[in-house]
Amino acid sequence: MDKKLITGLILAGGRGSRMGNVDKGLQPFRGKPMAQHAIERLLPQVGSVMVNANRNIERWLELAAPVWQDETPGFAGPLAGVEAGLRHCVTPWLLAVPCDSPFLPLDLAERLGAAVEEHDADLAFAVTQEPGMRPQAHPVFCLVKASRLPVLSQYLLEGGRRMDGWYKELKAVEVLFEDADAFRNINTLEELQGFDDTLPLSLAKVTSCLSGYDPDALPVRDAQRIIREFVQPVRAVEKVALRAALGRVLAKDVISPINVPAHDNSAMDGFALRGEDLRADAPLTLRVIGTTYAGNASGLVPAAGECMRIMTGGVMPEGCDSVVPQEFVTQEGEAITLPAGVIRAGDNRRFAGEDLKAGSPALKAGRVVRPADLGMIASLGIAEVAVQRRLRVAFFSTGDELRSVGEPLDEGCVYDSNRYTIYGMLQRLGCDIIDMGVVRDDPRALEEALRSACENADAIITSGGVSVGAADYTKQIMARLGDVTFWKIGMRPGRPLAFGRVHSNGRSAFLFGLPGNPVAVMVSFYFFAREALLRMMGAEAPLPLLRARSGGAIRKKPGRTEYQRGILAPGADGQPEVRITGSQGSGILRSMSEANCMVVLHDEQGNVAAGDMVDIIPFEGLM
Ligand code: AMP
Ligand code: MG
Repeated sequence: MDKKLITGLILAGGRGSRMGNVDKGLQPFRGKPMAQHAIERLLPQVGSVMVNANRNIERWLELAAPVWQDETPGFAGPLAGVEAGLRHCVTPWLLAVPCDSPFLPLDLAERLGAAVEEHDADLAFAVTQEPGMRPQAHPVFCLVKASRLPVLSQYLLEGGRRMDGWYKELKAVEVLFEDADAFRNINTLEELQGFDDTLPLSLAKVTSCLSGYDPDALPVRDAQRIIREFVQPVRAVEKVALRAALGRVLAKDVISPINVPAHDNSAMDGFALRGEDLRADAPLTLRVIGTTYAGNASGLVPAAGECMRIMTGGVMPEGCDSVVPQEFVTQEGEAITLPAGVIRAGDNRRFAGEDLKAGSPALKAGRVVRPADLGMIASLGIAEVAVQRRLRVAFFSTGDELRSVGEPLDEGCVYDSNRYTIYGMLQRLGCDIIDMGVVRDDPRALEEALRSACENADAIITSGGVSVGAADYTKQIMARLGDVTFWKIGMRPGRPLAFGRVHSNGRSAFLFGLPGNPVAVMVSFYFFAREALLRMMGAEAPLPLLRARSGGAIRKKPGRTEYQRGILAPGADGQPEVRITGSQGSGILRSMSEANCMVVLHDEQGNVAAGDMVDIIPFEGLM
């Protein structure tokens, strides 16, 4: 949908009762009024933005104009705001969003617009669904046909107040958005402060936003959310030569300095001609005046009744707008003849800037550079790019029973394998690695290791010593050196996890205290540390969650997330089918090694029957 057809509406007419009756959207958040975030995210998506507010009109006018007050009296809720907006809306569509949604999706208008067009609907609104949860509707984020105002006014007149209450009379469609966090709204002052990264963030502040927070029975999703809120990107940029950018995170958008392609050109080997010469009902004979090769413009200009032989990629001669593929023509000497109706004017011509317009972003900041990106950046003639500096991650293993490879294995001891898996996982994420070896279960040694890690790295990963009843000092020392919390997470394998930020001599680092069991270490790394480390690097790299048929029954207890190791392969009918690798014990590293995917069984899920669909995350991708 053309954005000029849509007027954005910031719904700011509420009483703000959960914030102590303040005008919520005007509260400072990350350096500006909260609503300004929503306005800035909405503006590029719509023709113009207006505001519905009932107080502080002057201040609202400084943020966006016009500002409309409710007509239905008595703070009648967001619907009254939508009504006011519709009343003054001069475009065919109105897109309403709440003022306290500073993270609203940047493709909101585009996706909702596409849905109303596809379904010929009166209204579209957003829904999200987190894994293992029921879909959640966000009816306050809605695109409404302006002509439906009378339906809404009637509903309000009859005392209706529910945001989705008036949909009954309309054709309403829902649109699923992936990122539930984009729809987060900020309801209390505490949340407001919890989000403010100009203040030092404490874990207590972050967890206060979570209802029913219990560190001893924490759902995976909540732990992930807390970690996501708490970690902050390390902002340090360096310029590198293009090839060296492979696997690095772009620190800035890569802006195309040129149109790609640079000229109108041919999509076929054939003959470039003037569309106006084409006849619908008669064959056409044209004189060939020359040849244009790719990369070599001839400068010849065909006149009426003339054409030019052209190769794929060849620059379109002046005056020509169509290409007839060579297989459609018969050639005799210097003339070609094409039958009637084989092409239409404009066919087989690629426009200059069709792939990319000069000045537009070819790649966005936050992208992890892949081979295709290298090629694309090269195609723009760019030799150097700004990337985030590599994240420095220090790691060590804890436990008196651990022996490093190369040492003899004493009675009752095990080789330290975690340092190797952690090394591999960090390496794959593109981190700079500081391997600190094995640290004994000794308070002095642990404190020294943690301090040194903290002073030299952005993040610290440890394994072992965070479970209940472990006869060690890891937890005490971690807690003493900073803001660290110890969780029991509703998951398997895994469960114990220490997370927070430690400080030493004016330096600080984020800390992930992973459990000791070799499989638990990997699972906790992938599902907690990975995203956080990427976030610290400024990268966006969500894991692809796919669905596959389960080849066998899987036992699963509801109430926790299970990460089972699976082997994905084509089943008897050729469709992808996943089977669990033999033993799933958290110490059995072979289960990880044999697997090629993780089967993710979400909290609410119970036993899986053979043939049921399950979520999987493949270990390897194409790139
Ligand atoms: P912990 O969390 O320290 O109680 O360790 C749990 C289990 O994982 C114990 O059986 C440890 O021996 C084992 N473990 C801890 N760290 C490592 C390691 N680095 N490599 C292999 N196994 C480990
Ligand atoms: Mg231990």
